[in-house]
Amino acid sequence: MTEVVLSETLAAARARLAKALRDAGRDEQAATLLAVSKTKPASMIREAYRHGQRDFGENYLQEALDKQAELADLTDIVWHFIGPLQSNKTRAVAEHFDWIHSIDREKIARRLSEQRPAHLPKLNVCLQVNVSGEASKSGIAYDQLDTLAAEVVGMPQLALRGLMAIPAPAVTLVEQRAPLARLRQALEALQARYPQAPLDTLSMGMSDDLEAAIAEGATLVRLGTAIFGTRQ
Ligand SMILES: *Cc1c(COP(=O)(O)O)cnc(C)c1O
Repeated sequence: MTEVVLSETLAAARARLAKALRDAGRDEQAATLLAVSKTKPASMIREAYRHGQRDFGENYLQEALDKQAELADLTDIVWHFIGPLQSNKTRAVAEHFDWIHSIDREKIARRLSEQRPAHLPKLNVCLQVNVSGEASKSGIAYDQLDTLAAEVVGMPQLALRGLMAIPAPAVTLVEQRAPLARLRQALEALQARYPQAPLDTLSMGMSDDLEAAIAEGATLVRLGTAIFGTRQ
């Protein structure tokens, strides 16, 4: 296996994101790079941090908590929980994360709001939408999105920031863009309905569809393999 040189993979990921933003006619600062560090050791996160990376995404709760404990000295890391969450594990996310991208049920959101410690800022949340309609995938269906958004907007310790999706793989740029465009339109509808909510986030775009996502307005792209190398 070739060794990952984080200074190089991070620079390449930043250059790719910058080019996609330029090609889309968007501001260089218009999207944040989220480094998805699941299954990778704390030492790699520390190295990426040393090269300026601050936003990290984790999928598995216990693994994430272990790494956070090891990296407790890096106080300005922004931790994003991006995996499915069971309702009996909400407390640790409420206490130890800045963001969660995978809200698709009222019960999970309510527990997170109730369990968010009062001394912390509101937990930033994205609602995950099942944009490809795959029965096996997490995420809420479009026809239930308005109801869930209305519930989450009213939760005192949550800040509803936007929408997240993991589309089914598609080959052409046109095929990739269609579900992402629909997600953007859904966010615009929520922004019109809740002008006072901080709805500024479209969490979409991964290693294979970053350019399509940026063309459709992504503000936060999630790259794992491209930064940290392949996972076992
Ligand atoms: C693992 C994961 C990613 C990163 O995927 P890569 O293919 O490694 O870039 C992004 N988003 C979510 C929700 C993930 O679970």
